[in-house]
Amino acid sequence: MSDHYAVVGNPIAHSLSPHIHCAFAEQTGEDLLYSKLLAPLDAFAECARTFFTEGGCGLNITLPFKLEALDLADQLTDRAAAAGAVNTLLCQEDGRLLGDNTDGAGLVADLCRNLGWGIRDKRVLLIGAGGAARGALLPLLAEQPAHLHLANRTAIKAEQLADDFSRYGDLSGGGLQGLRSRFDLVINATAASLDNTLPTLPEQLFTAGGKAYDMVYAAGPTPFVHWARTQGVPASDGLGMLVGQAAESFYLWRGVYPQVAPVLTQLRRELGKKNN
Ligand code: NDP
Repeated sequence: MSDHYAVVGNPIAHSLSPHIHCAFAEQTGEDLLYSKLLAPLDAFAECARTFFTEGGCGLNITLPFKLEALDLADQLTDRAAAAGAVNTLLCQEDGRLLGDNTDGAGLVADLCRNLGWGIRDKRVLLIGAGGAARGALLPLLAEQPAHLHLANRTAIKAEQLADDFSRYGDLSGGGLQGLRSRFDLVINATAASLDNTLPTLPEQLFTAGGKAYDMVYAAGPTPFVHWARTQGVPASDGLGMLVGQAAESFYLWRGVYPQVAPVLTQLRRELGKKNN
């Protein structure tokens, strides 16, 4: 029987993960089954435990269960512990659950490998202070930017997060209003695009040659991507991050790193989008 994996969330119907992992499996010749699990909002742990008791090998976890998955894991990778959230569970040989967070690695892979936008020695602005921003901090700082500034609508959250991670690199935090500098790379890790809105940002945020990245992806340009492009700034949405985090999960589970680019191209085509 094929090894069984799944993505669990609520809602889950929209998830592209089965599509991505089946494409990875086909590409690498791995024999696996990947499905969607809708967990009741008050029964994530029960749903995940049942999946593993019945022989499931690994789970991807999406909203709103990433914090509950952290509690469920018996053991955490360093990046999951730093992120304070788990998006991947692996059932190890002894039955213990290893929790990982591959979101930040997926982001960095998309920025550096797919888009070819370096982070090293760049001035980076990360907007947002929720789970996605937290998960991105360690992988971004590992790339050694010249400076990373964290800005959030609720300033205190960005200040706190910057304090928590200051030992890992040159990092500061504050509100959106006080932004005065220019940045080589601006990453939107807020949920604003989901509401079709834009964080309140000042003019002249980008250096010459600056780039913009929105973690949200959509069938057309997100408000943030559109805003950047109207200023002549190259901008990408977060579809490559989604495929990148899936590739990291696939590697953790199967020990084989799939090629991201063909799957991303296929997804973009299917979403009826132009390449970002
Ligand atoms: P959270 O709910 O944890 O955090 C939301 C963040 O967005 C907070 O910092 C909040 O600010 C900010 N925010 C929300 N609305 C606005 C607005 N209108 N203006 C300014 N700031 C706003 O969400 P996550 O961190 O988990 O996720 C953030 C986004 O990243 C989501 O949209 C998600 O889809 C995307 N994502 C994409 C992934 C991918 O693979 N491409 C992977 C993971 C996440 P405040 O603190 O002031 O409320």
